[in-house]
Amino acid sequence: MAKSKYPDLKTALLSNIEVDPNTGCWNWQKSVVQNKGYGRLTFKKKEYHVHRLSYELFRGEIKDGLFVCHKCNNPRCCNPDHLYLGTHYDNMQDRKRSGGYDKNPKEKLNPAICKGIRELNKLGKSVKEINGITGFGKTTINRVLKNERYPDKNFVWKKSRADNLTENQVTKIRELHDAGHQNHEICRIMGIKARRVADILKNINYKDSDYDVTWIPEPGKSAARSK
Ligand SMILES: [Zn+2]
Repeated sequence: MAKSKYPDLKTALLSNIEVDPNTGCWNWQKSVVQNKGYGRLTFKKKEYHVHRLSYELFRGEIKDGLFVCHKCNNPRCCNPDHLYLGTHYDNMQDRKRSGGYDKNPKEKLNPAICKGIRELNKLGKSVKEINGITGFGKTTINRVLKNERYPDKNFVWKKSRADNLTENQVTKIRELHDAGHQNHEICRIMGIKARRVADILKNINYKDSDYDVTWIPEPGKSAARSK
């Protein structure tokens, strides 16, 4: 066999794509993996899945437990901008999806998924973002990140800014409450969900031993929720 006609992987990849002017997809022109439709490239006797290769070449490392998924739902595409890291669940969705996201996965947690969720956290994704990516509920994700499900003793939850309030925000919330603002007003002023505000005012979250709890539930939703 003659040696590869391309000097490196990047050239091999870029020499065999056709860019779709409408979608921007980089469509792989050579062979694809049977049943899955991913582009396949053999270079120096090694076989690559083209979308994974593209992600590694142009975006960066693919951490263990994560999959490279397509935003464009076109398995042949290897445009790095159309690719994102997700869990096994995303990948399955990716393959059967034909429109919106199914936000209520029936899939149960397993060690691989927990690992994927933790990897997304290490990449700096907030719980909300992980929810959007994986479809798992925020409560479930919180449990995984708190190491309550399939614990990984080396994992420490790195809270992203979106998950954390600053000390100033917490103080401000308590001050607004002391100044007589209703809970829903505090939510609006601070742009924070009712339950989070309530947990701060109940001194459950961001506990401060000097804080006197004077929180009372508002009539309506929050009253029904608090027993
Ligand atoms: Zn694409």
